Amino acid sequence: MMISNIRRKIRAELELPRDQRRFGTGWLAGTGGLAAAVAALALTVCLQFPDLLTTPELQRLTMAGWFRIVIMVLLIHAFACAILSMVLRPNRTLAITTLAVVLIASILGALHLRTDAVATSGIFLGLDFFILNLIFLGFIFIPLERLVPQHPDQTVFRTEWREDLFYYLVSSMMVQVLSFLTLAPSGFILAKADLSATRNFLGNLPLIVQIILIMILTDFVQYWLHRAFHRVPALWRFHAVHHSAQTMDWLAGARMHFLEVIILRAVTATPMFVAGFSETALQAYILIVYVYSSILHSNIRVEPKWLSGILATPRFHHWHHGVEREAIDVNFAIHFPLFDRIFGTHHLPDGKWPSGYGIEGHPVPKGYWRQFLYAFGRG
Ligand SMILES: [Zn+2]
Ligand SMILES: [Zn+2]
Repeated sequence: MMISNIRRKIRAELELPRDQRRFGTGWLAGTGGLAAAVAALALTVCLQFPDLLTTPELQRLTMAGWFRIVIMVLLIHAFACAILSMVLRPNRTLAITTLAVVLIASILGALHLRTDAVATSGIFLGLDFFILNLIFLGFIFIPLERLVPQHPDQTVFRTEWREDLFYYLVSSMMVQVLSFLTLAPSGFILAKADLSATRNFLGNLPLIVQIILIMILTDFVQYWLHRAFHRVPALWRFHAVHHSAQTMDWLAGARMHFLEVIILRAVTATPMFVAGFSETALQAYILIVYVYSSILHSNIRVEPKWLSGILATPRFHHWHHGVEREAIDVNFAIHFPLFDRIFGTHHLPDGKWPSGYGIEGHPVPKGYWRQFLYAFGRG
């Protein structure tokens, strides 16, 4: 009862309309402090249970001595923000919550943190990947969406931000499962076919060439898979979850049914593993996809004209999410609009944006689990 009360209060504070959260009201300090405190707490928990919660690829980073200093800086920042917010703001909800989280993180952090790299052979959840990714993308997109927004009234804590954040958490936590799903079929194919000549050739190309090739090949495969998700009714129920977003921002792209994420990753990444691209190129591509997906869904109106002919832009993908009739089944590509031009699905009316987002009649229910079941025909 008390917890749900506190949650309601925090949510009300975070979701305040723009005019009530102006600079100087203490809202920014309260929110920034709380975000830093929660990130520090999550990273502290990661370091307490490194073999369960950290990503092996990130351990060189998270297990380094200076990483504790990063956490400490986050905590000090959170503490300072909470004090500032307390001075400026009569409503103390954010400040007190921040202080409580800072206290819990400090107590946890004072316990023995492991800084030795741990061999994670068993199951792990990429909580560190989620937090670091969120900090990185948040630093880029929150200011950009404020500076050059397409929808100026839209705020960070807009409708259903918690749902989309949860989608983001689930897909990041499942990095291990997802990479296993792509590695297993690749191993199977490689055992059957001798592709050493192609693999040697592609694997030795300059890194940048490999990355561009991966982008082109993946986008081709992704284009047709995406189109199938729109055309086949059974698949559409899964993809409809992604299209149920009625607000577009850097986080909205994370809304994707778990099964679709698995299919998408397996189908697009398997050919790249098999083809023999270097691990560095494939990992770089994964990072590019995370950033690129945020760009495509972001609430950013800037669109250099020369670029929009070559690369997919927010406006290009926003049309894919548009509610109007003309936006149905257009712009399937993720990187190169050329695929849509070639296959006749390109739609980018000069300077125009769609009037709204979502599916006509909004058939998809709200909430992660209801959407999860809806896709299987149970909602
Ligand atoms: Zn779609
Ligand atoms: Zn999308």
